[in-house]
Amino acid sequence: MHGLMQEWPLLCHKIIDYAASQHGKREIISRSVEGPIVRTNYAEARARALKVAQRLEKNGFTLGDRIATLAWNTARHLEVWYGIMGIGAIYHTLNPRLFPEQIAWIMNHAEDRAIFVDLTFLPIVEAIADKLPELELVIVLTDSANMPATRLTNAVAYEDWIGEVDGDFTWHSFDEKTAAGMCYTSGTTGDPKGVVYSHRSNVLHALISCQPDALGIASNQTIMPVVPMFHANAWGIAHTAPMVGATLVMPGGRMDGEAIYQLLDEERVSMTAAVPTVWLMLLQYLEETGKKLPHLNRVVIGGSACPRSMTQKFQDNYGVDVVHAWGMTELSPLGSLGTLKPEYADLEGDARLDIQEKQGYAPFGVEMKVTDDDNLSLPWDGKTFGRLKVRGPAVAAAYYGGDGVEQFDDEEWFDTGDVAHIDAEGYMQITDRAKDVIKSGGVWISSIDLENLAVGHPDVAEAAVIGISHPKWDERPLLVIIPKPDRQPTREQILEFMDGKIAKWWMPDDVVFVDEIPHTATGKIQKITLREQFKEYRFPTA
Ligand code: ADP
Repeated sequence: MHGLMQEWPLLCHKIIDYAASQHGKREIISRSVEGPIVRTNYAEARARALKVAQRLEKNGFTLGDRIATLAWNTARHLEVWYGIMGIGAIYHTLNPRLFPEQIAWIMNHAEDRAIFVDLTFLPIVEAIADKLPELELVIVLTDSANMPATRLTNAVAYEDWIGEVDGDFTWHSFDEKTAAGMCYTSGTTGDPKGVVYSHRSNVLHALISCQPDALGIASNQTIMPVVPMFHANAWGIAHTAPMVGATLVMPGGRMDGEAIYQLLDEERVSMTAAVPTVWLMLLQYLEETGKKLPHLNRVVIGGSACPRSMTQKFQDNYGVDVVHAWGMTELSPLGSLGTLKPEYADLEGDARLDIQEKQGYAPFGVEMKVTDDDNLSLPWDGKTFGRLKVRGPAVAAAYYGGDGVEQFDDEEWFDTGDVAHIDAEGYMQITDRAKDVIKSGGVWISSIDLENLAVGHPDVAEAAVIGISHPKWDERPLLVIIPKPDRQPTREQILEFMDGKIAKWWMPDDVVFVDEIPHTATGKIQKITLREQFKEYRFPTA
C-alpha cells in the first residue's frame, strides 16, 4: 500500500519562492564586481530570477540545456542560478582559477550553450571563444553603462537583456530527479569529471545541512559564504540560506583580509564559511591591525584540513566557534561537520582541540564507512584507517559521461579517494588522500598530520609533506616549508618543535625551505607538481 500524501516534487525554485513569500524583505548584500556594495532582498531576487527564466526561454533555451556561469558570489549570480533552474536548464559553474584551456575543455565536454560571465572574467571567455563552437550567447553580468568593448559578437549586457521581458512567468514543473546543476572536480589526477546535481539532491542537501548540528543556519542569522559558488556548489549555501530566510552577504571578488573583515564588521555577519587559506589571510590581517570580531559567532572551515592553530586562534583570541567540515563536489558537497555531540561538548583546552581537529560526523543523509583493501569495514576505534566510502541522496551515483566508474560499487558506495579513521562517537578524521599517504616500511604516515603540526610553528607560513623514495623504507616524509616573512627558521628548530608530538618513525627525514608551494585551482596543495619538483631529491642520510 502506498501512502496517501502529495508528491510535491522537490524543485529548487520552490526554495526561492518560499524565501520571497516568508522572508521577502530579508537582504542579500553584495560587493558588486563594479565596486559598490549593492543591497537587494529575496523578493527582488525571485522577481529577477523569473526574468532570467523568461528571457532564457525567449532565446530558445530549454529543459536539459547546460548554461555556464563564470562569476563571483553576488546576488546576480544567485538569481541567475534560480532562473536557469526554473526552466529545467542546468547551471554549470566554472572555476576561473583553472587554465583557460581547461575551462574550454570542460565547457565543450558539458556542451554549454550559453554563459553568464562577470566583467572580471570576460577576458577569459574572449581568449577561448574560438575553441567553443557550441556557445551561442555570452551574457555579461553588468549594465550597459559598465559594458566594455568586446570582440565577442554574441555578447550582451545582462541588465539590458533581462530588461527586455516583464517577469510575468511561471516556473516550469518537472520530475524532481531532473538535473539542476553541474560542477567539475578540479581533476588533480586525469581529466576533470562532471558531477550533476538534481533538483531533489539540492533540496535534500539544503535540508540536511541547515540542521542545528550541521551548519545551523536560521532566519535570525547573517551568513557570508566566502566559499565561491564556483567551488563545490558553494557548500550548498545558495540553497540553504534562502530555504531558512537567512540574510546573505556575498563577498564578490575580493578575498583579502581587509575586504573580508570589512563585510564581517559592517554587515554584522554571524556565520561564515571558506577554505583555510582565506582564514589565514583574515587572521594575519587581524593580528596586524589588532581588530576584533564582535559579531561573528561561527566559522565553518573545510576544503582542506583546518590546522589546530587556526581553530585555537579563532576560539581563544576572537571568541568565534570553529566548525571543521569535510566534503567533496561529489557530495553536494557536505559530508561531515565537527559540531560537538553531548559526549564531547564539555571538553576544554587540548582535549577539545583534539576533537575539533577531526572532520566531524556525518549528518542524517550521509552514510559513512572505512574499508580495507578487500572492501571489509574497519572498526570505529579512532585509529584504524582505510578508504573512506559514503552514500546518500545527495551523493553522486555516477560522473557525467560515464567517467570514473571504478569509484562506484554495486551497493552505491562511492569511494572518496580519501583515507580516514572514525572514532567510537562517529567522528571521522581524514589522514590523507589515498595517493598522498606516505608508505614507509609497511606503515602509513599521514602527510596532513605532519603539515598541521608544522604550521603550528610560529615561523612557518605554509607546510607541505611528500613521500620521497628511500632505499630501506620505500618512502620517507620530506617537509617543505615557506617561512613567514622576515623569519628564518632552521631545519633543527622545526624538527625539535615536532619531536615528541608524533611517533618517532613519523618524523620527517629532512626539511627544505622554499618561496612557493604550488596550489590547485581550489586552493589545495598540488602534491603531484611538488613531487615532480623534488623528483631528483635524495635524503642526505639515505
Ligand atoms: P577539488 O577536488 O576540485 O578541489 P573538492 O572540494 O571536491 O574539490 O575536493 C574534495 C577533497 O578535498 C576531499 O576529497 C578531501 O581530500 C579534501 N578535503 C575537503 N575537506 C577537507 C578537510 N576538512 N580536511 C581534509 N581534507 C579535506
